[in-house]
Amino acid sequence: MGSAYRIELSPGEVLFREGDAPTTAFLIESGSLRITAQRDGVPMVLSDLGPGTLVGEMAVLDDSPRSASATALEPCVLTPIDRNQFAERLAAADPVVRALLLSQLSRYRTALATFTGHADGVATESIVAGGDSAHALDKIRLESQLRGALERRELEIRLQPILDIAERRIAGFEALTRWSHPERGAVSPADFITLAEETSLIVPVGDYVLREVCGALRRVADAVPAARPFIALNVSGRQLEDADFIERVLAQLHQHNVPPEWLKLEITESLILDYAKVNALIEHSHRAGIKVALDDFGTGYSNLGHLHRLAFDTLKLDQGFIRQLDDPRCLAIVRAVVGMASALGCDIVAEGVETEAQLHTLATLGCEYAQGYLVGKPQSLDEALAALRG
Ligand code: C2E
Ligand code: MG
Ligand code: MG
Repeated sequence: MGSAYRIELSPGEVLFREGDAPTTAFLIESGSLRITAQRDGVPMVLSDLGPGTLVGEMAVLDDSPRSASATALEPCVLTPIDRNQFAERLAAADPVVRALLLSQLSRYRTALATFTGHADGVATESIVAGGDSAHALDKIRLESQLRGALERRELEIRLQPILDIAERRIAGFEALTRWSHPERGAVSPADFITLAEETSLIVPVGDYVLREVCGALRRVADAVPAARPFIALNVSGRQLEDADFIERVLAQLHQHNVPPEWLKLEITESLILDYAKVNALIEHSHRAGIKVALDDFGTGYSNLGHLHRLAFDTLKLDQGFIRQLDDPRCLAIVRAVVGMASALGCDIVAEGVETEAQLHTLATLGCEYAQGYLVGKPQSLDEALAALRG
């Protein structure tokens, strides 16, 4: 019939038969094939396929026996496609896209079985619990619920205090978003922010958090006018893409009558790979009077080459370092980072400070700020106000 790279068929020659085990799919280069399936022993024509179409790919995708036969109508040239070529791409695809594809395939197979009279009654399609498709559908369900939660204002902002170590007072807060899901309980921002970032949903989520933060800044200023704490807002990659982001931030600040200096933006370290965009955001923020922090510093993307050109106001040292402060090598790194930050004119916030011993070490190293359970957990606005009143 041909080589591994090219197959030629004469008119009437069969490429594969109903019931065969699948090994390969084919791309029709020239000629045409007739696809038939038996109904009560009579071959029924399902379709005629011409150049540029795939044939036999279904059985390769779901590893089921061929549900139809393919016969050449005229001289044909085909390129065989190994199942691995599909399998690798399918494995690398978005799980939701994979679930959509496999569900369409299963729907087609059920319809075909019904048409040819091979169905033992109509099988109810279902996705196996715990499988890859179930996981994908779970994700899409969560995404729909997140859209609903946003409309019902079920996302909550928690404020985690940041301590000025030398002065022993609360200098500001970081806004951390919480979602209390009616069935799943508290969904971690690590899960739902990542999910929102996969789609454009992060834009309304980000706008919602921004509005809440500006509202919180207004309430803090009214309730405890002398305190003047800042609130730090986490910025996602998608928001960074948005050329109008800072304008929207300024509009919200203006609407709540909040000066820009009270807000700080946090950009996570993985995003500084996109140097030009981050640089534009920093410059734009500085022109507007807003400070910018580099979040999770030291977690894997620390690019010192970029750091000297990006004028961050604050470095937030990742909690991984703080957890290991009793390790001399880790201590040496933290000491060096504090020195480097001070030479660059940035202040340092140590993240995830949980013990007095860690706080003491950080104070000796000259680190300015500490954030972590020792200082306070993420809390409601009322709790934050109580903490500011002392
Ligand atoms: P992040 O910005 O680095 O926030 C610090 C995370 O460390 C928070 O987790 C906080 O609760 C946790 N943490 C604080 N102190 C301690 C401590 O002493 N020990 C330990 N073990 N953990 C501590 P959370 O709230 O789960 O947030 C996870 C990440 O989700 C945040 O990391 C941030 O990157 C992202 N995130 C949260 N809210 C938002 C948001 O509104 N927008 C965006 N774009 N990202 C957000
Ligand atoms: Mg942060
Ligand atoms: Mg962080």
